Amino acid sequence: MDNILIYDTTLRDGTQGENINFSAEEKLKIARRLDDIGVHYIEGGWPGSNPRDMRFFELAQGVEFKQGRLAAFGSTRKAGSHVEEDENLKALIDSNAPVLTVFGKSWDLHVEQIIEVSLDENLAMISDTVAFLKQAGREVVYDAEHFFDGFQHNPDYALESIGAAIGAGADYIVLCDTNGGTLPYELERILAQAKTYSAGIERHSGDVRFGIHTHNDSGLAVANTICAVNSGAVMVHGTVNGYGERCGNADLTSIIPILCLKMDRPCISTENLKKLKSLSRFVSETANLVPLNNRPFVGKSAFAHKGGIHVSAIMKVPVAYEHMDPLLVGNERRVLVSDLAGKSNVEYKAKELGLSLGSNGYDSRRIVSEIKKLEQDGYQFDVADGSFKILLEKLTDQFDPPFDLESFRVTIEKDGDQPCTAHATVKISVGDGHEITAAEGYGPVSALDNALRKALGRFFPDLDTMRLVDFKVRVIDGTRGTDAKVRVLIESRDQDHLWSTIGVSEDIIEASWQALADSFRYKLAHEKRVRSGQHPAG
Ligand SMILES: [Zn+2]
Repeated sequence: MDNILIYDTTLRDGTQGENINFSAEEKLKIARRLDDIGVHYIEGGWPGSNPRDMRFFELAQGVEFKQGRLAAFGSTRKAGSHVEEDENLKALIDSNAPVLTVFGKSWDLHVEQIIEVSLDENLAMISDTVAFLKQAGREVVYDAEHFFDGFQHNPDYALESIGAAIGAGADYIVLCDTNGGTLPYELERILAQAKTYSAGIERHSGDVRFGIHTHNDSGLAVANTICAVNSGAVMVHGTVNGYGERCGNADLTSIIPILCLKMDRPCISTENLKKLKSLSRFVSETANLVPLNNRPFVGKSAFAHKGGIHVSAIMKVPVAYEHMDPLLVGNERRVLVSDLAGKSNVEYKAKELGLSLGSNGYDSRRIVSEIKKLEQDGYQFDVADGSFKILLEKLTDQFDPPFDLESFRVTIEKDGDQPCTAHATVKISVGDGHEITAAEGYGPVSALDNALRKALGRFFPDLDTMRLVDFKVRVIDGTRGTDAKVRVLIESRDQDHLWSTIGVSEDIIEASWQALADSFRYKLAHEKRVRSGQHPAG
């Protein structure tokens, strides 16, 4: 069976997604990561459409890719013009990309009503363009835009349109479900007919191979891609995280593991497959989009277990509630601690955090009841690993506070129309030492963060690497108006770790302080373990 070729279009179709913008430099960084994981084709952009994409191809020329072949995207020649004089085709050739991908029209409705040319002229545009790019010595991928819709309306013409590209020597014919409305069984039927048709077309340069390009408007982009592979497509177009116009493109972070692990159609190496989660995170970070927790395979929740029965089962036999081993895609099993928590969740979690329970006369049953009490008060430990670890340490007398708070004071000033300013003073002790510091901030929490950081900085220089990345406030009991309790969640990170902490109080500053103090405690305890050579948990 043919190897499946992964053709990534995150940098072109992916950037059609709402709120997605990459600079040329960011595109290059992503291209390197795609190459590193073993993607076969990296579509960098449309050089004829904007200067940023042109610049990307300039930058990329200086880069040695391991195996990823760079593709430039463009359209067929303009109607009534000559290929040699077409600006768009000139930009494609000038990109120096070894692979050129051009799209043309398969749907007669688009030909006659949108670009308003004759059906014959459209066929000539396709064959002229493909032949011209082949003559330039490049590998040519032909994207048959709206192929499936076109086929449903006028099958003969849709087939003729790909026939024009096949006859002119295209290396790959990629059938596109541009509007994302095709169903898997329709797609399989149409692909089979396209293959039969193509076998009858005369050409000089070997057999044509088929590819698939789907969009997710019916939630079927991945399913359609998998069906296409099952029906003989050998090139798969998609984007990392499924980013793309409207509902997105086919998500390569699902397709790649399905091909490798479930269909026995390996497309990247087992070693590289383990980089999938980190690739997904890298692209969402670069796009500045919050990663989707429930994204299959690579999401934070993809292998998270909450119910007590599930947890005791996976502790015995993971396959009981997991469709695959999360480590294969670089993800991990997580056990959530919540008010559904049973004894086994807590035991599992403690092990994961590197803590031994019970050694100090506490049993996990007692710990479960403490957690349940706190959760009734509004704490939610399944989203606050950092605070949960500190809590477990406290409940088992293993907590060694790196600092103690003596007092803090926060003032907020509002002067006329000026924005508020906040000042905080923090008094702490570390061992026998005391420290008082004051700092300003954009708001009370940032002022507290700055003051605490300054105070601790004298004792712990490593804190420089740590920063707060997210701050969320939720009113827990909305019926009591301003007397209601609030829950504050803080997410922090350093170079290697990401951790969350929580605070609950009627007072938003108090709740913020709890979460903030836990975040620093977590970081400092972690540093201490690393220094003393203990296993770094978390
Ligand atoms: Zn597309």
